[in-house]
Amino acid sequence: MTAKTDSLMDFLDAELASLKSEGRFAKLRVVTGHQAPVSVVDGRRVVNLTSNNYLDLTEHPKLKAAAKDAIDRCGTGTAAVRPIIGTMEIHRDLEEKLAKFKGTEAALVFQSGFTVNVACCQSLMTSESDLLISDALNHASIIDGARLSKAKRAIYPHRDMKALETILKSPDAAAARRKMIVTDGVFSMDGDVAPLPDIVALAEKHGAFVMVDDAHASGVMGPNGRGTPAHFGLSDRVQVQIGTLSKAVGAVGGYVAGERRLIDYLIATARPFIFSSSHPPSVMATCSAAVDVMLEEPERIRRLWDNADYFKAGLKKLGFDTGASETPITPVMVGDTAKAQAFSKRLFEEGVFALSICFPIVARGKDRLRTIVSSGHTRADLDLALEKFGQVGRELGLI
Ligand SMILES: *Cc1c(COP(=O)(O)O)cnc(C)c1O
Repeated sequence: MTAKTDSLMDFLDAELASLKSEGRFAKLRVVTGHQAPVSVVDGRRVVNLTSNNYLDLTEHPKLKAAAKDAIDRCGTGTAAVRPIIGTMEIHRDLEEKLAKFKGTEAALVFQSGFTVNVACCQSLMTSESDLLISDALNHASIIDGARLSKAKRAIYPHRDMKALETILKSPDAAAARRKMIVTDGVFSMDGDVAPLPDIVALAEKHGAFVMVDDAHASGVMGPNGRGTPAHFGLSDRVQVQIGTLSKAVGAVGGYVAGERRLIDYLIATARPFIFSSSHPPSVMATCSAAVDVMLEEPERIRRLWDNADYFKAGLKKLGFDTGASETPITPVMVGDTAKAQAFSKRLFEEGVFALSICFPIVARGKDRLRTIVSSGHTRADLDLALEKFGQVGRELGLI
């Protein structure tokens, strides 16, 4: 072995040992067959409370048929980036449909929600004289996008509008050429909602513009799942509206919706868009069918919210603290890493899969299980899950 290899292997051994000692060593769980409200995970049949398959669309016959048909008509891949020859009619058609759905002039699809966030931060905040203002609990892709942008950065404590206004009144903000406030619409760990009316009012008062990442709100919040700006009636006052196609929409991808000139600018400058190949036609067809289903079957969103309300109420009745959740993402606060991990492990053995989320993903003392119900869970699924939460919770002295 060469010295070079030793240095890599020594590094990996040391890192893996420390990850293991911190309980952060990750082993991938494997699903057999479908991703469903009740799934087979690592060989065990479990009520699945971990997925972002909010509307249970991954199994929808219309989505599956659309994907198969697109493969027959357009093949399996594009073999190119969008600006070269990776844009098919099927990509353009989905973008037109998304723009119509969101009520904006235009939309642009990216490979993922992650890349669209990175691209927008990087392309819109281009110099040190720009100021990117971000909620402390924004998603990792926004944090990485902010790091890749050349802008100055200011972070406000989670949903703290006083702190946001202080930043907007600061000398850095006064000197800034452009100011962008960026927030998740629904926060992925706590399931709480950004105070968009206040954010938009502050932005307008202080000459900033707003970017909202609706990864967990797409398909969940607003009429037919149009997202948080639509939910608050602010669609024409949020300049950069991000959605994902990877969660409720049931495929993979991300998009930005806004004015035509925003989209034209991103087509020419967004590095992930320009330098990474486009989605296979089957993915675009799946997403297009998903938007149709969201318009045709609003009862799915109603069932999702009914299930979320039912499950949240059941957890509270058992004596659990569900934090600040206002959406189908419901944390069950535990407060201790080892206990949260034990809770998740025991539930899994009992046939209920709820992920433990621990430091450093959340702050120390905020260790929890995160639960996400879908429109596809039956009352029997949720009752079983609640029974097991009660049983294991008592066993571990949590309630
Ligand atoms: C999941 C998520 C993303 C990333 O979306 P992908 O399409 O999975 O890349 C971005 N932002 C938030 C808030 C998310 O939860």
